[in-house]
Amino acid sequence: MDKTEELRKIRDKVWNLKESPLYSYRKKNKYYPVIGEGSHDAHIIFIGEAPGRNEAETGRPFCGAAGRILDELLESIGVNRKDVYVTNIVKDRPPENRDPLPLEIKLYAPFLEEQIDIIKPKVIATLGRFSMRFILEKFNLPEQTQSISSLHGRVLNAETKFGSIKIIPLYHPAVAIYNATSEETLKKDFEALRGFL
Ligand code: URA
Repeated sequence: MDKTEELRKIRDKVWNLKESPLYSYRKKNKYYPVIGEGSHDAHIIFIGEAPGRNEAETGRPFCGAAGRILDELLESIGVNRKDVYVTNIVKDRPPENRDPLPLEIKLYAPFLEEQIDIIKPKVIATLGRFSMRFILEKFNLPEQTQSISSLHGRVLNAETKFGSIKIIPLYHPAVAIYNATSEETLKKDFEALRGFL
């Protein structure tokens, strides 16, 4: 089975995830689940938190205000969004953009894990503390007890079943929507990705 077909299977499973506490909210609002988008052979996979309203209305990750910042950051290091893969840990929009609950992360995480195993990236860039925490724990990194304020922009090593990869924790692009200083920090941290393009 090729990668596209395998990823399509994940999409079908998430579409029918009736046991999710977010499923009825999705249906009621005629929202879409947001599976992920980009190159299936990407060297870099970006993992956000959960879809916001724009994303749930279109089924596309990072297509609202935070997405515009992500695009700018990618552009600043000369990366075209279609050459990376962008997804989230939780695939359905939580009501009113609240933080995802531990139970929701647990329910959706296996889909993210499958996506990682299919795409086999060389770098996982986490956007925000939820995906950072999940990925550091998943790969049992010694840094897993540290906060995003001490880890952002660092290049960490992880062993996966498909070989050694790098993990780069980044702040969530939404922090830069109303804060120019955060945008500068994000820009600086994105430079860490240059070596892996
Ligand atoms: N914020 C996220 O974490 N993910 C999206 O897809 C959009 C906004």
